[in-house]
Amino acid sequence: MPLSTDQQAEIDQARGAAQPTLRPIAPALEEILFQALPVLDHGFVRVVDYMGDDAAVVQAARVSYGRGTKKVSEDRGLINYLMRHRHTTPFEMCEIKYHVKLPIFVARQWIRHRTANVNEYSARYSILDNEFYIPAPEHLAAQATTNRQGRGAVLEGAAARRVLDLLREDSERAYAGYAAMLNEDEAGAPVDSAWPGLARELARMNLSLNFYTQWYWKTDLHNLMHFLSLRADPHAQYEIRAYAKAMLDTLALWVPMTHAAFLEYRMNAGVISATGLAVIRRLLAGEQVDQPSSGLSAREWRELMALLRDPATP
Ligand SMILES: Cc1cc2nc3c(=O)[nH]c(=O)nc-3n(C[C@H](O)[C@H](O)[C@H](O)COP(=O)(O)OP(=O)(O)OC[C@H]3O[C@@H](n4cnc5c(N)ncnc54)[C@H](O)[C@@H]3O)c2cc1C
Repeated sequence: MPLSTDQQAEIDQARGAAQPTLRPIAPALEEILFQALPVLDHGFVRVVDYMGDDAAVVQAARVSYGRGTKKVSEDRGLINYLMRHRHTTPFEMCEIKYHVKLPIFVARQWIRHRTANVNEYSARYSILDNEFYIPAPEHLAAQATTNRQGRGAVLEGAAARRVLDLLREDSERAYAGYAAMLNEDEAGAPVDSAWPGLARELARMNLSLNFYTQWYWKTDLHNLMHFLSLRADPHAQYEIRAYAKAMLDTLALWVPMTHAAFLEYRMNAGVISATGLAVIRRLLAGEQVDQPSSGLSAREWRELMALLRDPATP
């Protein structure tokens, strides 16, 4: 359970304090507002605030005064059109704010996305919890042989046990060293009064990348979808993908029409080069095309064929 009793009580209190508002709300998202959605072994993502909904995207695109009188099908058609033609600014009118608890190595990938506002838990000011990420056995894998960035076969038996033991022992030792250097008990008093202890901003450097940090992360709908298109993609590392998948679920609750358009025209769509299009035209005309005669590199050819293959066909 990633939350302490006190933290859960704060969330329950916030959820119990409903207020009437004239602002548009997304009823399905309200159902999970503030609640922590578990990710990995100790992490979570929770929506703490949002502005706008599907109608706000439509309203901005039409520059209209009210919530509009058009039919739902017309709004859906407009959102699909905006998504298809990358008319992006109407999506920037909606904002969302998440509270995320995540391992530091995931945070390092995440923070590369510059189009968000971030405020991270200060380990200069506060003491980090003794919580570190240990992958579930099915995610412990050897280095991929075909892709220098990815994972290959899942580790099993003694190999898996050895890695898990090393990860756990190293993390526990690192935290014990951190705690010893801080020399503080829970009330902030020195454990060893004969020793001054080390500043929090220095002691933290002893912790490894699998320790958890936390931040508030706020972005607009357009940039959220850009983040998700990269980080919910199978090319992204499993750990950040786990967060992106949870956030994709919140997108569906918040802006269902935009979510559907995003899946249709971005997540489950493909980019085809000019040469790739020429290959498809030749194939449609009944021509036999192979990689050497296609004008595509071997890698591009493989990617195009993967795109054209029915995902249900092995
Ligand atoms: C599978 C994968 C592998 C990766 N591997 C590596 C790696 O090996 N090494 C590494 O360093 N990074 C790596 N990255 C990070 C990647 O290069 C990007 O930094 C990261 O995905 C953020 O993307 P972004 O810049 O589009 O996002 P954001 O920072 O959110 O920017 C969104 C968009 O805003 C615009 N923008 C933002 N800032 C600027 C700017 N200063 N100038 C011009 N336009 C701007 C761009 O159009 C950009 O696409 C990897 C990412 C992925 C998904």
